[in-house]
Amino acid sequence: MGRRKKIVQECERLMDKPENIRNIAIAAHVDHGKTTLTDNLLAGAGMISQDTAGEQLAMDTEEDEQERGITIDAANVSMTHEYEGDNHLINLIDTPGHVDFGGDVTRAMRAVDGALVVVDAVEGAMPQTETVLRQALREGVKPTLFINKVDRLISELQEGPQEMQDRLLSVIHDVNELIRGMTEEMDDITEDWTVGVEDGTVGFGSALYKWGVSMPSMQRTGMDFGDIIDLERADKRQELHERTPLSDVVLDMVCEHFPNPLNAQPRRIPRIWRGDAESDLAETMRLVDEDGELVLMVTDIGIDPHAGEIAAGRVFSGTIEKGQELYVSGTARQNRVQSVGIYMGGEREEVERVPAGNIAAVTGLKDAIAGSTVSSVEMTPFESIEHISEPVITKS
Ligand code: GDP
Repeated sequence: MGRRKKIVQECERLMDKPENIRNIAIAAHVDHGKTTLTDNLLAGAGMISQDTAGEQLAMDTEEDEQERGITIDAANVSMTHEYEGDNHLINLIDTPGHVDFGGDVTRAMRAVDGALVVVDAVEGAMPQTETVLRQALREGVKPTLFINKVDRLISELQEGPQEMQDRLLSVIHDVNELIRGMTEEMDDITEDWTVGVEDGTVGFGSALYKWGVSMPSMQRTGMDFGDIIDLERADKRQELHERTPLSDVVLDMVCEHFPNPLNAQPRRIPRIWRGDAESDLAETMRLVDEDGELVLMVTDIGIDPHAGEIAAGRVFSGTIEKGQELYVSGTARQNRVQSVGIYMGGEREEVERVPAGNIAAVTGLKDAIAGSTVSSVEMTPFESIEHISEPVITKS
């Protein structure tokens, strides 16, 4: 069996284990490093299990992709990551980086349960950091923080350990002020969602040079900020990357700190759906029941040159399969599912079925638009996704 086929099988196995799934978005102010970080995670995950991940196999992946002429369109990508001896399926939904796509950012947030907020260490929290945080929190999506471009503090700004620490703590402080202000009025968020170094909900590093650290990673690798400053100053970035790879730090943080669908849906459903909370449908959505009625929220419509329109979205209940006749909110007739797939490293891969808790790529939903509720029974649609307006920020 080919390697790719094995990976698809592994993803299909993990799709049925909601406790091992993390649906996440990376959100950032423009130019803070979201694209570079996303590329890093994909390369780092290598789409192979960490057990067998070696230089050779990682290389194979790239060669394979080059040969097949795949260019990754990061709208939706899935990867697997081994954390504490257990493989996890991480579905990453891209959020457009520009302010004028505010509506799309919120749509992406509807499909995920965790948002990794990336902030440039030099610039600090910017207006769009606030907007993406607001979009995440309004959807009941939990934030964590990655402070990027730390290499610039060391190499360009020549900061020492104390100065660096002060600057990083001030970024964390600013982000927490925003989170605190926004969650104050939210009764359904009972946990403390502010981020901190001590509990590992903050990571630091350089997406450009592919290294990262967090409190748990420092404990694991034995590397502290002093070592990092020394290596970065000595221009030993490859060594830094090898000793404390960014993708491990970030993907461990994702697995540890973001809720899985079983934890997230009971809290998120009342926030995004105003139907009868006592109904069976509400119950199957809260429980992520793959045997319940099918409920899918479409977050994005893409065009595939061969397959035509593809509706991507989060399955909140039931299992989507080829041949199902489904209702599409706002239209009178039903649509027939032509195919279902998942995204693997950015490429759509057809599968037999996609159960609740996952992101599905569906063809045949002719009447669906981004924001549609698609279901096997007629139902109250999800709350419409509100566009959060913000001042236009020009790129400097
Ligand atoms: P996005 O707009 O958030 O997707 O940002 P990009 O990933 O496109 O990065 C914007 C610019 O910052 C690019 O020129 C990157 O090479 C650069 N960049 C990204 N991450 C880092 C980093 O960790 N260190 C440095 N020095 N530059 C970075």
